[in-house]
Order: sequence, then structure tokens, then C-alpha cells
Amino acid sequence: MNEKRIDVLGVGFDNFTMEEAVDEGVRLMNEPGAHYVVTPNPEIVEICREDADARGAVNSADLVIPDGIGVIYGAKILGTPLKQKLPGIEFAERLMEKMAQEKKTLYLLGAKPGIAEQAAEKLRETYPGLTIAGTHDGYFQKDETVVADIRASMADVVFVCLGAPKQEKWMAHNGTATGAHLLLGLGGSLDVFAGVVQRAPEIFSKTGMEWFYRLLKQPSRIGRMMKLPLFLVHVVGKKGKTDAARS
Ligand code: UDP
Repeated sequence: MNEKRIDVLGVGFDNFTMEEAVDEGVRLMNEPGAHYVVTPNPEIVEICREDADARGAVNSADLVIPDGIGVIYGAKILGTPLKQKLPGIEFAERLMEKMAQEKKTLYLLGAKPGIAEQAAEKLRETYPGLTIAGTHDGYFQKDETVVADIRASMADVVFVCLGAPKQEKWMAHNGTATGAHLLLGLGGSLDVFAGVVQRAPEIFSKTGMEWFYRLLKQPSRIGRMMKLPLFLVHVVGKKGKTDAARS
């Protein structure tokens, strides 16, 4: 693990403010070669504890930012606080502003058929100057077909929205072959950009309750969300072990 990163149960997080993270994203987007960004929440950290491939893909990313208040609490309890919560979707929005200024091109990969096109239409309106070079839904059989399409589009940046840990593994495996400079794993963000799913009202995100709003809207997420208390149990257990080793 990159030693500058803050370790939360085996996942190393970069300790940046939003401003610093966006600057780093812009730098990576202008650097030769392929780079990718991951935005783990407690659910993904828990997946990484069990799945070594997922953990490898997450920790090999060029930028790892904490999506969700749970990771912030976890880092604090462990005695190594992170500067702030950086929701992946807000990071993407800030990056698109910069991309529009720098006339960069974007490819949208993921979600159900039709959603990426709908998101493209909305994003073109919101960020004049941003070119959407291509789109593809997230329910494909062969990586090669999608990789070839991204390559042909010559996109600078790709939003990979296939859900975790599929998107992290996909970027680790296919990032270089796409020819893009920066790939971002963004979960359900295309559904939000397309307007088919609403983000929680600000009061929920400000109070660290965005997860609760999502649960109210989609009660079927309960199974996945049970990973959040499990995550906190593991954090407290780890803290206990570290304290005992010190004393
Ligand atoms: N998805 C996809 N391909 C798949 C599985 C999922 O494109 O094989 C999409 C799904 O349609 C949704 C996104 O990935 O748009 C995952 O959304 P989720 O709410 O699970 O992500 P989160 O934001 O919670 O990480």
C-alpha cells in the first residue's frame, strides 16, 4: 500500500480535501498513460476484506477517495482521521467543470440500456464545452468490444459505472487498453446524471444520513447496508487490537 495513504481495514485512502483531489484528478488526466480513481464506501471496504482481487484493484488505483461518512468515522476511530468525505459523484462533477474548460472528452460506460445516452444529453447541457465521445450500457458480454469502442472514441476520461467491485476490477484490467488517461469508478452515478435516481436532499448528506435516505427510497438495499454496522464492528475490533498491542 502507498505509505502516504491512510489504512482503513486494508484499504489505503488518500488524505485530500475536495480541492486537492480535483487538482490531482486534473494532473492525472493530463499525464501520459492510464490512471484510475476509486471511491470506496464502507460496503466496498468490507468487500475488499473478503475479495483479494477487489482489494488489489482498489489499492492499485492512482487516487482513492472516501465516499461516505462511514469511512470518515472509521478513520477517526482508528486514530488516523481523514480530512473530509469526498462523494464520488461530487468529485466527478467538479472534474467535469475542469474538463469542459480544458475541452476534454468523456465516455460514459454503465447502467441499464439507454441511461448513459440520457445522462450524456443532460451533461452536455450542464457542462457546455464538454464533449461526450461515446456511451455504452453496463450489461455487455465481452470486455473487448467495449474497450475497442472506447479506444475508437479517443476519450480522455471514462466514467465506469458497473457497481462495486466489478468496476474496480474492470478498470484495473482494461484501463490501459482503453487508451484513456483517466477512468473513474462511480457506481450508480449515471442513473443520477440521467435523472432517473435522485440524490438525497442536502440535509441528509450534511448530517451524514445519505445512506438512510437511500435505504428509505430502496428498502431492498438493506442486505447491502448491513455491511455498514459490520464495518464499524471491524473498525472497533481493530482499534482494540492496536491499543492492546501498544500497552
Ligand atoms: N450495473 C451495470 N452493470 C452490471 C451491474 C450493475 O451497469 O453488471 C450498474 C447498475 O445499473 C447501476 C450501477 O451499476 O447503474 C450500480 O449502482 P449501485 O446503486 O449499486 O452503485 P453504488 O452507487 O451504490 O455504488
